[in-house]
Amino acid sequence: MKIIQRAVPKPKPAEDSALGFGKYFTDYIFTMRYREGIGWYDAAVVPNEPIAFDPAASVFHYAQGIFEGMKAFLQPDGSIGVFRPEENWARMQRSADRMCIPAFPEALAEEGLETLLRLEKDWIPHGPGTALYIRPAIVATRAELGVHASSEYLFFILLSPVGSYFAHGTQPVKLLAEDVYARVAPGGTGEAKCLGNYAASLKAAEIARRKGFDQVLWLDPAEKKYVEEVGSMNIFFVIDGETVTPSLSGTILPGITRKSCIAILNNLGRRVSERRISVEELVKASQAGTLTEAFGTGTAAVISPVGEICYRGETMKIGTQMGETAALLYDTLTGIQRGTLPDRYGWVKKIF
Ligand SMILES: *Cc1c(COP(=O)(O)O)cnc(C)c1O
Repeated sequence: MKIIQRAVPKPKPAEDSALGFGKYFTDYIFTMRYREGIGWYDAAVVPNEPIAFDPAASVFHYAQGIFEGMKAFLQPDGSIGVFRPEENWARMQRSADRMCIPAFPEALAEEGLETLLRLEKDWIPHGPGTALYIRPAIVATRAELGVHASSEYLFFILLSPVGSYFAHGTQPVKLLAEDVYARVAPGGTGEAKCLGNYAASLKAAEIARRKGFDQVLWLDPAEKKYVEEVGSMNIFFVIDGETVTPSLSGTILPGITRKSCIAILNNLGRRVSERRISVEELVKASQAGTLTEAFGTGTAAVISPVGEICYRGETMKIGTQMGETAALLYDTLTGIQRGTLPDRYGWVKKIF
């Protein structure tokens, strides 16, 4: 892998506690380009510096672009552990396909990532709750205003040392169930990690924030009756001792943390199911006292307990701290990721 050295390294953040999420970026990125007729070319690790794009580049106008999110952790044996990267590459290929972006060579992306991680190992934070966040992306770069798939693309991988995703760590969050706006539509792009989905979600998130909530709980876009997911997390509930999460409906992002949580619970012999969950059911369970936990799952936040959910002016109070199931999943996942628990599932790819 070609590496272009940079002249001056960037200063590293002084303290883990100041990291926040996605505020600092490392010295290098991985990039490769695509051009119709040539395929993917020019794979290299290069200095992380501003890149020039033509103002007519299609990503700026039509949002033809996708991204991924994964995390790397220092392991007790000195290696770098990446959590389930093959799952992210596979999902990125599916997102690419949905957005008419050409398939990319996964082995080359993985080699680029590993080269980058070895070079940037000193940037991986050590503190509890910290990680090196990995952000691969593909954007359409062809300068042309016609509405059709671009014939040129840039693939890049950014690295960012991160602390807690939410400012208050694993304190329970307050969700507002959204019954007006939708972030995606049936037959739309909800299953893909593509750029426009997030822009479409900002308005409802801003309104919720102004009303004192942390995040939006999205309902199904067709009927607004069934629970789907949170801004950048999938959602789980514990009802009557059973852990339930909405089944993948086509408008839900198929989270890798979600999938891992289901596997862990199954493996422990706990009752866990994927099915439709109506807000009505949650309200009833809350009134009956059987809704004992709610939590979000995602790479960035890992497990985020939900303290309350507001739906049409009614508040369901769920808990003031992390529940038993959420804590079990948090400890298991982070233990496997950090190499302090045995990786019985083979989820951590070690890079030496
Ligand atoms: C990325 C994302 C998730 C979580 O997926 P993970 O693979 O667990 O990180 C959930 N919902 C949305 C909308 C997302 O973009």
